[in-house]
Amino acid sequence: MSEPTASAAKVQAAAFPDGTTDYVPLRSGAKYDPKKVHISDLPMTWGNWYKHINWLNAIFIVFIPLAGFVSSYWVPLHLSTAIFSVIYYFNTGLGITAGYHRLWAHSSYKATLPLRIYLAAVGAGAVEGSIRWWSRGHRSHHRYTDTDKDPYSVRKGLLYSHMGWMLFKQNPKRIGRCDISDLNEDSIVVWQHRNYLKCVIFMGLVFPTVFCGLMFNDWLGGFVYAGILRICFVQQATFCVNSLAHWLGDQPFDDRNSPRDHVITALVTLGEGYHNFHHEFPADYRNAIEWWQYDPTKWMIVFWKWTGLAYDLKQFRANEIEKGRVQQLQKKLDQKRATLDWGTPLEQLPVVDWDDFVADSKNGKALVAIAGVIHDVGNFIRDHPGGKALITSAIGKDATAIFNGGVYNHSNAAHNLLSTMRVGVLRGGCEVEIWKRAQFENKDVTYINDSAGQRIVRAGAQVTKVAQPIASADAA
Ligand SMILES: [Zn+2]
Ligand SMILES: [Zn+2]
Repeated sequence: MSEPTASAAKVQAAAFPDGTTDYVPLRSGAKYDPKKVHISDLPMTWGNWYKHINWLNAIFIVFIPLAGFVSSYWVPLHLSTAIFSVIYYFNTGLGITAGYHRLWAHSSYKATLPLRIYLAAVGAGAVEGSIRWWSRGHRSHHRYTDTDKDPYSVRKGLLYSHMGWMLFKQNPKRIGRCDISDLNEDSIVVWQHRNYLKCVIFMGLVFPTVFCGLMFNDWLGGFVYAGILRICFVQQATFCVNSLAHWLGDQPFDDRNSPRDHVITALVTLGEGYHNFHHEFPADYRNAIEWWQYDPTKWMIVFWKWTGLAYDLKQFRANEIEKGRVQQLQKKLDQKRATLDWGTPLEQLPVVDWDDFVADSKNGKALVAIAGVIHDVGNFIRDHPGGKALITSAIGKDATAIFNGGVYNHSNAAHNLLSTMRVGVLRGGCEVEIWKRAQFENKDVTYINDSAGQRIVRAGAQVTKVAQPIASADAA
């Protein structure tokens, strides 16, 4: 087995300063000329559209499935063949999700040789390219998500991210670089890559046909249902990870990129649907972290661990996962907070002398000072729940004590409402002016801002709130 490793070393391209190596096809003779303009860089016209199509991929993912659907009209489906098709569907699907994706693309666990041989075999049966080619594209997808270097960026359209990226030729130089040196050292990966066509034909079509033929005497049914149509369903299901999982669902961990969590995508893709989590914690062997979420790929990896076939399962600490969740919640909260009126920020209010405040109140303005902040309650007198008389009696006065318990210890909502009426700050008005001056002089002032730079006002922490209710003079 030393031979593939030795030749694998030869395909290693020069390392880039960022530690990555470029993808080099193992088979020589690829007719790629970097000096020539690539077809994908030319606009599609009536004269050249057929040159844009990747015909080999089109045969595998469009024409053969179509032929399967058409022939199913004449080929009867027997129960035993149907059951085998479903079982083989799950096996080949796991080859992609547990093998290609979580084992090889992300190294989220280690697998013993028998398990790697099994996963490489059934993965080939899904007909989605070699491990080496698939993992390279997927690593670029994670590294350059949603950018032009993402081989299946959903920003180019849902259909493009589902199948278009395979049906139309892509300029290999455009796809982002990533490091696959570890895969070039995996003898199973290199062997599967070198013998890919044989692997595909055998695992995709020959094995299911022969199995159904020998076991149930249903050669044709095995070929059409367990072979062609099963391939089509596995392909469409796993393609959904690139399309649906970047389009449908929630973003509980980070909403700056497109990956999303949704149970429907999870059901379709053997548990790969918790894709927002996956893009945040790609090296975690899990996609679903809750026990009740559907992630059969994770369950199988755990089962293999029990049987000794898999080991070194990687997992992010709950502490790290929860931090991401809290930050995203905070972001949503900030967005919601920003839509609310919290009153004019104190630093934007004019500083008013006590005498001017009293004079303005005498001249007909309904101004009330509370904790050094002046409020214009003119439009509120009529609506004051405590009646007109009480609020009118506070006009032109410092009502800090009355408002904070002297007459009535106002509610949190009342302090919030009051802040929307503020129009000025009293000179020498307790802490507020000092705080304001300190701000102006760039002193150390501790107050908390949200991610949009807005000051956070917590319940009970409004500037008008005095910590201890002040006992009224009458009560003494
Ligand atoms: Zn993705
Ligand atoms: Zn991934």
